Amino acid sequence: MALLDFVVRPEGARPPLAAVAGAPYLAWLVAELLLSHLIWMPRWGYWGFALHLVVAGLDIVADGLLSNSFGYNVLWLRANGFSDAQTAATVLFNLVASQSLGFLVTYFLWTEPFPPETLARVFTWPVLVALLTNMAIGEVLFTLAHRYLHQHQPELHRMHHCCRRASWSTNLIFHPVDLALEFAGPVASILATHYLLWKQDQLVLVVSYLVLQTWYALDHDEYLRLYHYAHHLSVDAVYTIYIKVRDDPSRDLVRKILIKPAALAAPASFQKQ
Ligand SMILES: [Zn+2]
Ligand SMILES: [Zn+2]
Repeated sequence: MALLDFVVRPEGARPPLAAVAGAPYLAWLVAELLLSHLIWMPRWGYWGFALHLVVAGLDIVADGLLSNSFGYNVLWLRANGFSDAQTAATVLFNLVASQSLGFLVTYFLWTEPFPPETLARVFTWPVLVALLTNMAIGEVLFTLAHRYLHQHQPELHRMHHCCRRASWSTNLIFHPVDLALEFAGPVASILATHYLLWKQDQLVLVVSYLVLQTWYALDHDEYLRLYHYAHHLSVDAVYTIYIKVRDDPSRDLVRKILIKPAALAAPASFQKQ
């Protein structure tokens, strides 16, 4: 029995936690994201970070139990040479690495509490302009890295695109170098502008990071199905993340190297298993 067999089910089978799939699970994911970044980590430090890692890890396990998408993606991962142990180790490594950045921002860089009058500043022009500028810089850097992966480094991006049916676990199924290339730009630009443009305005920093973290996570949600969901389903040439811009599909190499699982080539026999 393979490590991730517990998430692999025949097409159409009812997942054990199907009752909480969809809106309840999504509401919990957003609540956990806000709780961990606004309360647990800033107030409880390392204990809050540890709590967030444990809960976020359980959310990934839950993803495999409330939907069949994670299991479907595991079939693609196996067919493309990724063992279950490799996938599980990658998810764990990426969980700690990616969430360390949130811990850095919300615990080490966010030092002033936000009273209501500070929070109200989010809706003032200077702060809105700063937030939109950060998002625009992040969009350009993310798209350049994502397009580079599709057109020049398909092997690095293969693991992420084994997730043909994106779901919450897809957020962490990346070759670690792929994850670094795609997210280093947007995160580094938020940190750079914090010092170079926005005079270390902590409100701009924390809200910019939260918008980035939340949007990048939700774009893999299978209930919302934002257009990044279609990027996974058909490996299309939309390499942007906030806005929808289609690149030249003929230059994409990822679609050409993905190996379809044998079990899916003969769906009738797969369904009988
Ligand atoms: Zn892609
Ligand atoms: Zn993706």
